[in-house]
Amino acid sequence: MTAQETLRIGVLTSGGDAPGMNPAVRSVVRTGISRGCEVYAIYEGYQGMIVGGDLIRRMDWDDVGGIIQKGGTVIGTARSAGFRTREGRRQAVANLLAHGIDRLVVIGGDGSLTGANLFRQEWPELLAELLAEGAIDAATAARHPFLGIVGMVGSIDNDFCGTDMTIGADTALHRITEALDAISSTAASHQRTFVIEVMGRHCGYLALMGAISGGADWAFIPEQPPEVDDWETHVCEVLETGRLSGRRDSIVVVAEGARDRYGNPITADQIKRLLEDRLGEDTRVTILGHVQRGGSPSAFDRWMSTLIGHTAVIELLGATPEREPQLIGMRENRVTRMPLMTCVADTRAVAEAIAAHDYGRAMELRGGSFSEAFRTLATLVQSQPPQASRAERPLRLAVLHSGGPAPGMNTAVRVAVRLSIDHGHTMLGVRGGFQGLIEGDIREMDWMSVSGWATLGGAELGTNRKIPQGAELYQIARNIERHSIDGILMIGGWSGYQACHKLHSERHIFPAFNIPMICLPASINNNLPGSELSIGADTALNNIVQAVDRIKQSAVASRRCFVVEVMGRDCGYLALMGGLSSGAERVYLPEEGITLRDMQRDLEEMRYWFQRGKRLSLMVRNEKANPIYTTGFMCALFEEEGGDLFEVRQAILGHLQQGGDPSPFDRIQATRLAVRCVEFLIANGGRGEANGAFIGYKNGKVQILNIEDVPRMMDAENARPREQWWMALRDVARALNHPPE
Ligand code: ADP
Repeated sequence: MTAQETLRIGVLTSGGDAPGMNPAVRSVVRTGISRGCEVYAIYEGYQGMIVGGDLIRRMDWDDVGGIIQKGGTVIGTARSAGFRTREGRRQAVANLLAHGIDRLVVIGGDGSLTGANLFRQEWPELLAELLAEGAIDAATAARHPFLGIVGMVGSIDNDFCGTDMTIGADTALHRITEALDAISSTAASHQRTFVIEVMGRHCGYLALMGAISGGADWAFIPEQPPEVDDWETHVCEVLETGRLSGRRDSIVVVAEGARDRYGNPITADQIKRLLEDRLGEDTRVTILGHVQRGGSPSAFDRWMSTLIGHTAVIELLGATPEREPQLIGMRENRVTRMPLMTCVADTRAVAEAIAAHDYGRAMELRGGSFSEAFRTLATLVQSQPPQASRAERPLRLAVLHSGGPAPGMNTAVRVAVRLSIDHGHTMLGVRGGFQGLIEGDIREMDWMSVSGWATLGGAELGTNRKIPQGAELYQIARNIERHSIDGILMIGGWSGYQACHKLHSERHIFPAFNIPMICLPASINNNLPGSELSIGADTALNNIVQAVDRIKQSAVASRRCFVVEVMGRDCGYLALMGGLSSGAERVYLPEEGITLRDMQRDLEEMRYWFQRGKRLSLMVRNEKANPIYTTGFMCALFEEEGGDLFEVRQAILGHLQQGGDPSPFDRIQATRLAVRCVEFLIANGGRGEANGAFIGYKNGKVQILNIEDVPRMMDAENARPREQWWMALRDVARALNHPPE
């Protein structure tokens, strides 16, 4: 390509800021450069386009180094009244053309994306006007006959149709969940009630998911107002019952835009007065406000923004005057392209449906998993301790863990226990995994036994990797009979799947095993069959990303290479996604192994870049990427060969990855899956029939599979699923972290 033909891309962030915008900008700049384009940052949103000058700056590879972990947007954002005028937009065309830019990546909300579309439509006319005025010459006009645009949604509200998640929503949920956890502990100390207002004028996503993840007792959202006119009495009854059953705190979450069926606002103050007057509760209001926008982006916001930024540039490279502008988003766990203006129109339709009090339509437009989450929350908050057993055929279900501890295990147990009790069944807790089932360490769990577990890391019931063999199976059969167990819920990892499979296949010898069993995937390694994601992996990823942020900060003085070792056993998920989310130059996966040639090549690359002024190099390796070339070996090799050019340090992250309270995503998914597992056991329980199953996500949807399929889906030798969707992301990680030489 000649300099003349080099494609020039402008990237801007506009409207409200959102954590994750920086990883998106970084990804756009680096993908653009690696594809031979020039990329320009347009500072301060559309305002920068109108002002021009120093607000439009060419970005080099290193200009976007060290921003992946920063909140907000380093290129600034603004609301620009000027861009709403034709005059302003004409000036913007002139300023873009001064740099030869005719491709734009716009990261913003529906206003920003609508503005971009209008700008694109007007481009040829504005160009003609500038030519007529003599502001540009004919050759310039001929070189840039059209404007190519692509959109990404930056919005903490998750209020956009066409993408399951918007940039910033997951981080906002982290902030809300942290706040709810903190408030719950003080509320419980004083037996207080708290009403928490969260953002969301037209969208209840943050309120709903925040309530599920924070274990709140009620949520008010704009799309689904309380169904009854006298909602006040209903809320009071539910909260009072909770108190009577021994709960020490009550938490109510209310979205900014919450309303009743007639469109009248329901405010935090109104709820406070209600609870004080009717229940005599000591009630406090906390408005979370801009805290929700702040802070370092979560691991998810980093990797999602990185992936969609990458795809946005590829989309722009193929832009033509005829091709409809696209919105790049994530649907069902995959990057997607959708017609931009259809998505904007659908998004606006939700707000219009709410304004017209057509709540059924609003919920329909929000999509299936939102409605499912709403139903789940409604079930959970209304689950009450048993007044009397209501089930026609009361079942005795057992819950246990297996494998390493995974944050979210307790969340799932809590939901399973309460839901079972609510349906009139008994839930038995087995302590210490299958060893506990062998030894008969089995106790009934009552309503309050899981109080506070929604937010608790670790595994209160205890877990280990025991897989029963030989005579132990006989002891298990005896205990199943002794406790009249009608179904088993195993929440855990690979050893749990193997144990359940074993029991299921031995059912002809042990009739006691002819009961339904279901496995819920919980492992930080994300190495389980039938599920694209397992509970705990998101928390571990966040732990890794935070640790790496700190490690990077520690290396300010010298030229240094860090080799960070992460968990994952035989599965490279944490290494790849950790590397992608923290901007590592290199990831070493067990799926690919490590060869001497790999290390030699990496060493040469490091030498090349350190000689050119590089200060920090980051490598993330999985613990089992190679048994001989250990982390210590690699570090020694790099250190020796690096000579005086750079130092090498190793950081083995170890168990901090398994610890900590579960992330909002893990809590929400644990809740969602546990509800489905209990439904499965109730539907199949007590029939004296074997029904082994495992649950998981495929393309973002819940699926329940037959346990007999486990061997087929699993590469047992390497203890990882045969199909791993995320392996396709290796090329993006490589493209973004290796500057072209
Ligand atoms: P968001 O993008 O977060 O929805 P706004 O609605 O405030 O935020 O839009 C951000 C900026 O996008 C506005 O300040 C304005 O410059 C531009 N913009 C919004 N709507 C339009 C429009 N209809 N026409 C032109 N520009 C617009």
